[in-house]
Amino acid sequence: MDRSIVLKWLREDNPDRLKDLWALADKVRKENVGDAVHLRGLLEISNYCCRQCGYCGLRSENRGIERYRMTAEEIMECVRLAVKYGYGTVVMQSGEDYGIETEWLADIVRRIKTETPLAVTLSLGERPDEDLIAWREAGANRYLLRFETSDPELYNLIHPSYAGRLSDRIAILRRLKELGYEAGSGVMVGIPGQTYESLADDIETFRNLDLDMIGVGPYISHLATPLGSGDWTRLIPKEDQVPNTELMTYKTVALTRLICPQANIPSTTALATINKAMGREYGLMRGANVVMPNLTPTKYRSLYEIYPAKACIDETSDECRACLHARIERIGRTVGTGQGARRGAPSSPKTGRAGGLGSPC
Ligand code: SAM
Ligand code: SF4
Repeated sequence: MDRSIVLKWLREDNPDRLKDLWALADKVRKENVGDAVHLRGLLEISNYCCRQCGYCGLRSENRGIERYRMTAEEIMECVRLAVKYGYGTVVMQSGEDYGIETEWLADIVRRIKTETPLAVTLSLGERPDEDLIAWREAGANRYLLRFETSDPELYNLIHPSYAGRLSDRIAILRRLKELGYEAGSGVMVGIPGQTYESLADDIETFRNLDLDMIGVGPYISHLATPLGSGDWTRLIPKEDQVPNTELMTYKTVALTRLICPQANIPSTTALATINKAMGREYGLMRGANVVMPNLTPTKYRSLYEIYPAKACIDETSDECRACLHARIERIGRTVGTGQGARRGAPSSPKTGRAGGLGSPC
């Protein structure tokens, strides 16, 4: 599928024609990654962040949130819950928090890899090379770092550099792959100033990077950020602006499945936030094959407020597990077992276990 066809679909709003896109994405998903939906337990380990991203409520200038960092014991308790619930992966996510020290986290990764069968995914921002090396050597399997938009002008507006270091997420993604991580990335759909052309380029960039995981969610406005308040703006013609709607996100998920048939694609929490009743299900029915039940202790969840009214902040981990199981079964899919890596993904450096153990692919 070339770029002009991607663009045509991104601008398509006829529900009858879109049914063909949904059906094709679902067929390609089934043929390439099967019916299993993999569960990745999400642990939001810290909401400290040194960065100033224009879209995100965790940015350091937002003084309106109480900050927290989980202890090693709190993390290990949640990891044991992930095993009990049958999840194949634990995802540790945070702001770019240098209070998370290299060796402290390496120890936690080693403990998880020796005490459990879980795959470990990290999503801790633009950490220096030595950190990425240390965590990979400790056994981390995957790293998620969204490039957010492939449009350099928009990226520079919404994602300022830090401490004089040029922010080049695409270069870090290439480096992660060299280090043997499964690399995950993604974008937000409908960022103010994002054009249809640049969203088509984003999908092309997914293909060029040969990503293992691709997360696509709607941009959700947060008033305590410069993008949300309108302080930072990029003027583009109204007709070029990508809407931050549910429909636009489904189109992007479906096209991503067609362009990257073997990738692991989550039905994101942001999608579940803008349609609490059916967002997860529609994502899964239009190309996605992964969901990320929240494992974060309830007392911290509301503090990880990257955008307002986030889904799943009041439920317990047990309720999230039961809710997602029910949603998956209701649409005739099965809950995946094992680590659920992409076919041919690198194995763990410590255990030598194939990343794809138990995967249906
Ligand atoms: N700090 C790490 C990073 O930036 O990669 C990981 C945590 S960050 C909160 C995870 C993702 O949240 C970002 O990559 C971004 O795409 C998403 N996000 C942040 N603010 C958002 C917003 N207002 N609407 C939708 N997604 C948002
Ligand atoms: Fe920090 Fe990540 Fe939010 Fe940027 S997106 S402010 S790096 S938590």
